[in-house]
Amino acid sequence: MRAKPGTDELIAFVGARLAETAAQAELFHELACPAVALPEPGPRAAVLEGCACPVPREIRDRALALRSELDDCEHRIRCQDPRDPTWPLDPVFAEQTLRVLALPFELHHQWQDAWLPG
Ligand SMILES: [Zn+2]
Repeated sequence: MRAKPGTDELIAFVGARLAETAAQAELFHELACPAVALPEPGPRAAVLEGCACPVPREIRDRALALRSELDDCEHRIRCQDPRDPTWPLDPVFAEQTLRVLALPFELHHQWQDAWLPG
């Protein structure tokens, strides 16, 4: 089933912001991290993956968890079935969850006020 107008855009917006967040995690390595001194890309990527810096890992893990939540919401919206006893509440809750996922990015230039949780 197609998502209602604007929801596709919201899903894409949240997905793009989470991907950016995961990529920006690499900016938070500690100065003593052996990967920081290595030239990009080559061996640096491998060292960055296995380094012990806690912050990049925490940012990546959080982005991954939120991405999983986003995928779940998208599935609940796109695969809604009027014969399901949770319909139509479940897709409505999924839409609200999507809006909450988008809220931390409300200062982004692509943000739309229509996405505020209702
Ligand atoms: Zn590191």
